[in-house]
Amino acid sequence: MRIGGRIVRPGAVIGGHVEIDGPTIIDVAAGNRAGDDIIVPGFVDLHCHGGGGHTFTIGDAADARAAAAFHLGHGTTTMLASLVSSPFELMRDATRGYLPLVQDRTIAGLHYEGPYLSDARCGAQNPEFLRDPSVEELSKLIKVGEGAVRMVTIAPELPGAAEAIAFLREHGVLAAVGHTDATYAQTEAGIAAGATVGTHLFNGMRPPHHREPGPVIGLLDSIAVCELIADNIHLHPGMLAFAARSAGPDRAALITDAMDATGMPDGAYELGGQEVIVADRVARLARNGSIAGSTLTMDVALRNAVAAGIALPDAVAMAATTPAQLLGRADEVGAIEAGLRADLVVLSAGLEVKRVLRAGRWQ
Ligand SMILES: [Zn+2]
Repeated sequence: MRIGGRIVRPGAVIGGHVEIDGPTIIDVAAGNRAGDDIIVPGFVDLHCHGGGGHTFTIGDAADARAAAAFHLGHGTTTMLASLVSSPFELMRDATRGYLPLVQDRTIAGLHYEGPYLSDARCGAQNPEFLRDPSVEELSKLIKVGEGAVRMVTIAPELPGAAEAIAFLREHGVLAAVGHTDATYAQTEAGIAAGATVGTHLFNGMRPPHHREPGPVIGLLDSIAVCELIADNIHLHPGMLAFAARSAGPDRAALITDAMDATGMPDGAYELGGQEVIVADRVARLARNGSIAGSTLTMDVALRNAVAAGIALPDAVAMAATTPAQLLGRADEVGAIEAGLRADLVVLSAGLEVKRVLRAGRWQ
């Protein structure tokens, strides 16, 4: 199969064709422009709680499949399923329940957003379930997961955080700094212990101050990949562009942080045992008005990033290549290169999704 158009590759957009055999890209050939479609690699979303009325947060495998299918329709071909702060039993059962989805590659693994988070910066996380980092819990969950647990968000200022981060690193699980009231020094300590990700930079964090730079500057000025929610609600477009420039496209990742209400009408929804009201695309906790997850999809995130002034190849790197590298999957997905899985999104000149190809099959 040949797909022609303007192909977005690392650092450049070229006219030409992508040659596909079965599930694999076998060649990318420049020349003979074939229309104005824009061809980008399938998106890789590191942080997503659900969509299309379905959620990853309750541990229901059928619902999780439906959530992944919803996002696939918006171009996301690789994703982590994010839980929110929950009792240990729910985390264990969800991890076990999602194993078949990891094995058949519906999802690339699980992300635990919590429960080891700051009470002061818990945002829409349920404070009832927050607790200090526990290597004992993590070791049980990693064992149950058989490789499915891929990322854990931790507030580095909590007691036991450094030990938990080091433990995750030893076991090949990404440690992310997030929902944190850490100082700059505490953030640096978390990174020194092995954290390599910042969970939705700016959101759920102590804001930067010129005499206490806090986690935002600590993460931007580190080796960590910084997640950014490009929905124009969680972040002003100017802040998105500034953070992307500051980290560079190889250390910035667009995420959705989407909840089940994504793609659904306004109304009442649920997140981690709490009521969320969605009005005009903005999801807020019913009890305190805190912004909850987003109603974003990766195609919209890409459009917003480009509209914010980020060059298309850089925005695509942030939506696919960089998160694939972080997951250790760059030899399989995240770019349009011979030998990689044929995951492509065909976009119109206005960056609207026309068709999605996953492992060589139109969706
Ligand atoms: Zn989240």
